[in-house]
Amino acid sequence: MTRGLVFGAAGERPAVEEITLEPVGAGEVQVRVEVCGVCHTDLHVVETGGWGMRFPILLGHEGAGVVEEVGEGVTGVAPGDRVVIAWRAPCGDSCRACRRGDQRRCSNNLRARRRQRRASDGALLTPVLRCGTFADRVIVHEACAVKVPEALPVEQACLLACGFSTGAGAALWSTPVREGASVAVIGCGGVGLAVIQGARLAGAAQIVAVDVVVERLDLARGFGATDTVDASAGDSVAQVRELTDGVDYAFSAITSATGLADAVRMCAYAGTATLVGIPPGGRTLDVDLDRDLFGPKVAIGVTHGGDTIPQEDFPFLAQAALDGKLDLDRFVTKTIALEDVPQALDDLHTPTGVRTVALL
Ligand SMILES: [Zn+2]
Ligand SMILES: [Zn+2]
Repeated sequence: MTRGLVFGAAGERPAVEEITLEPVGAGEVQVRVEVCGVCHTDLHVVETGGWGMRFPILLGHEGAGVVEEVGEGVTGVAPGDRVVIAWRAPCGDSCRACRRGDQRRCSNNLRARRRQRRASDGALLTPVLRCGTFADRVIVHEACAVKVPEALPVEQACLLACGFSTGAGAALWSTPVREGASVAVIGCGGVGLAVIQGARLAGAAQIVAVDVVVERLDLARGFGATDTVDASAGDSVAQVRELTDGVDYAFSAITSATGLADAVRMCAYAGTATLVGIPPGGRTLDVDLDRDLFGPKVAIGVTHGGDTIPQEDFPFLAQAALDGKLDLDRFVTKTIALEDVPQALDDLHTPTGVRTVALL
């Protein structure tokens, strides 16, 4: 029996239900999901009444497990392989970015057919971000099944699927941080802490963590921040500028409307401010075009999930973790059962640890 966390309709609370799977198709991979991280995007799906997707929705997009079965023509993985399930899978040749060789900016990710149904009524499920990994078993496009070393514990490996790669990738690939540079990270939730880890791996000399909660700043120091700014104690832009004279890179990893504007104002001349994570709709950027942007020649960047090329980047990040250059171990601060995921999604409003991972 396969079970999954189904979001049946806008306003309903997600619930664990029985699921049936269709046979694996050509170019597809069936994965026995072992773990799935609790990521903010699933909360976004619930709170936006489905994020524009068709109901019923199968939640989860930060999964890892073992390949159970492969469809015709699949050569990259075989049954028994440990895989992380990626929600990004660049098309390689059919979008404008991929045709010019820039897969990090692919706008046309590959996806498997929808192959999971709710057992109670046979309704075809829409998996979040083509994953739906809050389920025992999923069927994904072979490009989304990324082999990683088994030496990396699976509950750490799953973080590569979204949250960790989003943060680390923002600093490594979306806006590559130069060695010796100064960096500010606004917001020290799981993604912000991963930005700090990515900036550290890139060789940043100074990493200033900004948050309103002192405990989050303590966590940030543990993950590589060299300085911290308590934004509840007054103007965080002024505090960062006093510490750094302006940073080369500022990352906004909060949903508040002021995050990106603050990041822009924290930048030194010719710095780059990068927006990380999904902002709520309706927010606008309030900056003075002359004083904040043109004069200091600040660039603005956006990352989608760290702009990763999963088949290359996940093994790279996994190896960096095994080599002790990234600290995935301390990112997993709580493990829960699938039934507890709805509560864990609620708890994302007031995070205490770093990452909660569901064991399936
Ligand atoms: Zn593409
Ligand atoms: Zn996510």
